Amino acid sequence: MTNLKALSLLKTSSYINGQWQQGKADLAVINPANDKTITHVVNAGIAETEQAVLAAQQALPAWRAKSANERGKLMRRWFDLMMENQDELATILTLEQGKPLAEAKGEIAYGAAFIEWFAEEGKRIYGDVIPAPAADKRILVLKQPVGVVAAITPWNFPNAMISRKAAAALGAGCTFVVRPATQTPLSALAMAELAERAGIPAGVFNVVVGDDAKGMGKVLTQHPAVAKFTFTGSTEVGKTLIAQCATTVKKVSMELGGNAPFIVFDDADIDAAVTGAIASKYRNAGQTCVCTNRIFVQDGVYDAFCAKFIAAVKQLKIADGMHDSSQIGPLITRSALDDVHKLVTDSVQQGAKIALGGDVDKAGHNFYQATVMTDVTNDMPIAKNEIFGPVSPIIRFSDEAEVLKQANDTDVGLAAYFYTRDIGRIFRVAEALEYGMIGINEGLISNAAAPFGGVKQSGSGREGSHYGLDDYLEIKYLCLGGIGANS
Ligand code: ADP
Repeated sequence: MTNLKALSLLKTSSYINGQWQQGKADLAVINPANDKTITHVVNAGIAETEQAVLAAQQALPAWRAKSANERGKLMRRWFDLMMENQDELATILTLEQGKPLAEAKGEIAYGAAFIEWFAEEGKRIYGDVIPAPAADKRILVLKQPVGVVAAITPWNFPNAMISRKAAAALGAGCTFVVRPATQTPLSALAMAELAERAGIPAGVFNVVVGDDAKGMGKVLTQHPAVAKFTFTGSTEVGKTLIAQCATTVKKVSMELGGNAPFIVFDDADIDAAVTGAIASKYRNAGQTCVCTNRIFVQDGVYDAFCAKFIAAVKQLKIADGMHDSSQIGPLITRSALDDVHKLVTDSVQQGAKIALGGDVDKAGHNFYQATVMTDVTNDMPIAKNEIFGPVSPIIRFSDEAEVLKQANDTDVGLAAYFYTRDIGRIFRVAEALEYGMIGINEGLISNAAAPFGGVKQSGSGREGSHYGLDDYLEIKYLCLGGIGANS
């Protein structure tokens, strides 16, 4: 048992304007591994969300006025504290989210890397001088912070989905308010505690925790003091939030759902493809938006790939994320598991076969077996929907044109993966896939230096990389006239 009292980063109320909200803690945070209550948090609502927006508005002028160097030093300290507290942050994350502790540690390092990255990148917000069409004019371009940024984040990466947004916002000179998912508020609050210890000024980074998703969401998407809104979550909710943002014409960026194809061509290195598919499918029990959702395997290697893949999936250990052996933890809730199971059973009714798993695991109520399905077609529910569970549907194909058509036959376009050793095919397929991110002979693609984001209904904007700052900056054009000639 984890000794909660020893966790100095376990905070139980919203962090607004550098203050921890007072009040009765009555909103339970549940450990999905055993459905037990970890702790209770104070339930903030619309009023606290408005306070947080106003605090961010008040803090903006001083934060924006700091040099990028000064902001970068505070952010660097925040990064250092996150890494110094990696174990404790990971413990809190596993308790509330369920993923194996080793993965949780990885998420803390991944999340912190964005803070380090944007602490540096903020120093490189360059402007421009453009040759003017008239001799007596000069054209200058400045890039300035957009202002107050509001964010809503999901439960699948309780740390990194916040740090990816907050780091870019703070690095650009913006202030920030986030409403984390109700299921996983503790990781967000621990980040706030470390931001305070790092010396990030009051009002610059605010966290509001509460279960009124719609009410709080309306404040964050419609408050006139919010200049930019950013969301990670489902496409369905994202569409509603974009519509809400229209009322005040906010700058918007969205990281929404995916339906990643993973294509194994005849000339692939099969062992590498198996390793890549396991990593991209079963990480976080299949609950990531870049997770492999459909595995397409070409005729010539179909049997060999299936045999090796099934043997490898069989080895995965399903257990409470706090156990050393765990490689797959629970799904976030029982209702999430029921949704996954329905996709599996509905597809079996349409002719898919279960090669492995296919049911609730003996590890507990919220654990789903590592599952592999064969004889799947691209029109079955398991292929058409984002699974968000540890299930691999395998679809057989014969030629490149056919698989590209099937891979692109979806409204979303976040990540795609393919394995081949043919250099011509690498370019053809990479260019033809209608996705924002492509893993080529690689199953793990996310890092702070790379632009993360999707096309089609997977969203807009990019997180990470030097492109990641653009979403938090406005372009201002200065036209300097009356320069004339020196007579
Ligand atoms: P997921 O399936 O990952 O939970 P959702 O899109 O349902 O994806 O949720 C992502 C985040 O959006 C969560 O923090 C959730 O509480 C929040 N959310 C859900 N519905 C709404 C809404 N109507 N308005 C504002 N926020 C919402």
